[in-house]
Amino acid sequence: MKKAILSGAGFILALLFITRVFSGDYQRERNEMVETRIASRGVKNERVLKAMRDVPRHLFVPPEYRKLAYEDYPLSIGHSQTISQPYIVAFMTEAADLKPADKVLEIGTGSGYQTAILSKLVDKVYSVEIIEPLARNAEERLDRLGYKNIFIKCADGYKGWPEHAPYDAIIVTAAPEEIPGTLVDQLKDGGVMIVPVGSYYQELYRVIKKGGVLHKEVLMPVRFVPMIRGVDVAIGPP
Ligand code: SAH
Repeated sequence: MKKAILSGAGFILALLFITRVFSGDYQRERNEMVETRIASRGVKNERVLKAMRDVPRHLFVPPEYRKLAYEDYPLSIGHSQTISQPYIVAFMTEAADLKPADKVLEIGTGSGYQTAILSKLVDKVYSVEIIEPLARNAEERLDRLGYKNIFIKCADGYKGWPEHAPYDAIIVTAAPEEIPGTLVDQLKDGGVMIVPVGSYYQELYRVIKKGGVLHKEVLMPVRFVPMIRGVDVAIGPP
C-alpha cells in the first residue's frame, strides 16, 4: 500500500517535471532575454522588467518564428509590418514612466505585444491599428490570453482616439515625419508621449506637455515602419 502511494507520488512528480520541461512556455528564455538583452542594456524599472518576463512574446509572432521570439530583433507579422524588438519595447515603456492608475493610448497595435506589456502596468490601454486584419488578430489574441483592460479599434492613428482623451501617456510604434498635433492635443497636461519621428533617419522622442508647452527630448536613433496616412490606405489600384 505504502509502496503504491510512493510510486503514485513519484509518477505525479515525474509528470509535473515533464510538463514543466515540455510545456513550451518559454519562461527560461524570457528570463534570459530580460537579463542579457534588456536589464544589461540599462532598463531598470522593475515593473517593466517583470512585464517583459511575464508576457509570452512567442504567442504574438507567427508560429514559424516562435523559436526566435526571444532574440532581440523585430520579426515580420505580415502586411509588411513587424513586431518591435524586445529591448525597444522595454526602453519605450520605461521612458513613458507609467503609473498603475494611468490611461494610455498606443498607436500601431500590430501584434498586440506592446499593448500587452502596457496592460500589465496601467489601468487602461486604448490601441489604434490602421490595418484591419492586424487589429482583428490582435484583439482575438489578447482576448484569448485574458487581457481585460485593453480596447482596440481599427482606424487612422493620426486622429488618435478622442472619445477617451486626455491620456496620461501616448506611445506611438510607427514613425510619423513630424510629431502629430492631434496626438499632442489628446495628451493630458503633464502627460508623456514616446514617438519615433522621421522617415529614413528616425529619432525616438520623449515629449512632455506642461502648462501647454511641449518639452522635447531625443532619446536615441531608431528604425520603425512608417506611420501610414489614412489617405494612403484609401487609394488602391483602380
Ligand atoms: N506595437 C507593435 C508594433 C507594430 S509595427 C507590436 O508590438 O507588435 C507598427 C504598426 O503601426 C503596424 O501594425 C502598422 O500597421 C501600424 N500603423 C501604421 N500607420 C498607422 C496609423 N496611421 N494608424 C494606426 N496604426 C498604424
